[in-house]
Formats: sequence, C-alpha cells, structure tokens
Amino acid sequence: MGASSLTGAEHRGVQCPECGCARLEVLQTRHTHDMRILRRRRCRRCGTRITTAEHLLAGPRGPCCRYR
Ligand SMILES: [Zn+2]
Repeated sequence: MGASSLTGAEHRGVQCPECGCARLEVLQTRHTHDMRILRRRRCRRCGTRITTAEHLLAGPRGPCCRYR
C-alpha cells in the first residue's frame, strides 16, 4: 500500500521552481556555523535539484524545525 516515504523532516511550503510540485525529496541536510540549515532537495516529479536555507530564529515566531 501507499509506500510514501515521508521522513517527517520535510518542510511545507517549498515548491519546485520548475514544475511547482511540492513533493521534494530531501537529499542532504547540513548545518552551518551561523545556525542555518541547508537542505538539498530534489523534485520527485521533474528531478530538479534545489537548495534551501532555513534560518533558526530565537523567538516564538521562528520557524518550527524538527531535529532527528
Ligand atoms: Zn519539479
């Protein structure tokens, strides 16, 4: 049955710039020194690879990030 491999680390709101598909597979997650998280993603539909950067903000309105 549905073999969706949601890792739980997928960030909602990111879309492929090519086809607009929101199903991006996270290939690699990297933490930088300035509290940023870089994620390499690949679109499951067209294969376009993009890199997203998330910045951790100290505050109640910061992005909700989950660690594994
Ligand atoms: Zn795409």
